Amino acid sequence: MNRLPPEVSGEPETASPDVAPARLTVLSGPTAVGKGTVMAAMRRRAPEVWISVSATTRPARPGEVDGVHYLFLTEERFTELAETGRMLEWAVVHGRHRYGTLREPVEEMLRTGRPVFLELDLQGARQVREAMPDCQLVFLAPPSWEEMVRRLTHRGTETAEERERRLVTAREEMAAAGEFDHVVVNDDVERATDEVLRLMGVDTRGMASDG
Ligand code: 5GP
Repeated sequence: MNRLPPEVSGEPETASPDVAPARLTVLSGPTAVGKGTVMAAMRRRAPEVWISVSATTRPARPGEVDGVHYLFLTEERFTELAETGRMLEWAVVHGRHRYGTLREPVEEMLRTGRPVFLELDLQGARQVREAMPDCQLVFLAPPSWEEMVRRLTHRGTETAEERERRLVTAREEMAAAGEFDHVVVNDDVERATDEVLRLMGVDTRGMASDG
């Protein structure tokens, strides 16, 4: 059995009858646009949102915890899950490693009425749209291309070669923004998070933006 993210193992919550049906929201956006920061703000401000933990074949980076940041799988295990239909979507990202969303926890959370959030690359977003047409696709865009390149260079976590690779993908992703239901510009993390949460139907009134 594949280990499930820790959030999944708890008792399912039942949806109250007066809430809107649970929605699946997919966030995508080019490299260094700030998806991780927006997700961290979302975790802090809206713990009722269930954020999927992806499976990946890429090795863990220092500080990354299996089952928390990703489910780190061997190539064999990933292939097995993909071939037995247990991935809602999967893709090779930045031409290197495979990343995918396990179907079962997503479906389980939607059944319990919890808003579900996935952060995926463009290929994954397209696959989820095919599989679950009711989902909403949100594109997180940088204020400008130059700002995005600046952020990527500034964070210094990639080699020059990796940066180039990510910028090639980013061009394709920016060109596909029109396929998304909404575009949110990440000019300010708290404001952008607010906008995403509102699109998800999560009430952000009265939430302290500083935690
Ligand atoms: P990183 O290696 O920097 O953690 O992730 C690279 C990119 O992989 C992320 O920015 C995200 O767009 C994509 N990604 C993460 N998880 C998934 C997933 O489950 N499916 C797909 N298709 N892409 C993912």
